[in-house]
Amino acid sequence: MKDIKTFNYTEILGWSISRYEKFSNCKRQYFYDYYAKFDKEMPLEKIQFLKSLTSKPLETGNIVHDIIRDLLRRYQKITKPVNMDKFLKYSFKITEKYCCSKTFFEHYYNGEIILPSKIYVKVKDTLENFLNSSRFTWIKKNAVPQSFKWIIEPEGFGEFRIKKYKAFCKVDFLFPILDKVYIMDWKTGKPDVKKHLKQLTGYTLWASYHFNKEADDIVPIIVYLYPQYKENNVKIDSNSILEFENIVVYETKNMYEYLADIEKNIPKDKKEFPFTNNSILCRYCNYKEICPGGRL
Ligand code: SF4
Repeated sequence: MKDIKTFNYTEILGWSISRYEKFSNCKRQYFYDYYAKFDKEMPLEKIQFLKSLTSKPLETGNIVHDIIRDLLRRYQKITKPVNMDKFLKYSFKITEKYCCSKTFFEHYYNGEIILPSKIYVKVKDTLENFLNSSRFTWIKKNAVPQSFKWIIEPEGFGEFRIKKYKAFCKVDFLFPILDKVYIMDWKTGKPDVKKHLKQLTGYTLWASYHFNKEADDIVPIIVYLYPQYKENNVKIDSNSILEFENIVVYETKNMYEYLADIEKNIPKDKKEFPFTNNSILCRYCNYKEICPGGRL
């Protein structure tokens, strides 16, 4: 595979699915997430601490992603079969380490004691679903021989350009087999058809941008690892790419409207970022301690 193209740093904001999702859900939450240093009322450290809160589902996904990343990197060095006992011990250690080094939303707001052994139950099931899947067997047989060409969680944020606009789309695992490029994205939560289709299109465009590949030669796959192994593999055609590009431009311009200086990515005043009306979002929001919207 060719090297991923690099970009000089610019301050202008870059579109990503998660950024626009946050923007759509609650403008104030979006402000805290991306523009905390412009908050004139709250100490930056406090906002950053709240931003760093993790949650049980989030951390489970994070642990699984990192263990699969390590497993694939191991296959780039050693091809002999995984010793399941050792692998599960390693997975438990990682779970313990991650759980003990972070503050959980459920603990901070509800006083819940987070036991790594409880988090590990789902981590273990999820990893076993992957290791026992026919796809993993297929990867070992067909992709491992060219493992030096794999891209596993590339450095950075997956920057590229869509119609000259800055965008980010970070793949979990990309590998070539013959003339096709496969992209896999691990999910430990529930399927979200609309959002995940958008992601698949983003991955296709990202790979096509960096490796000059036609959409026909790119196979993006969303992998649901829990409760059972399942894949969502949709054919991305030129119409859906065109539509996606237009959506990204529209959504980027939408986010620009909340900026006082677009080139420098400086936001308008915090009061221009309204609270959501969705009380369920507030209930699960990291910032509810400091946000007046969370107390309405
Ligand atoms: S508490 Fe509610 S209104 Fe405030 S940032 Fe969070 S989601 Fe938005």
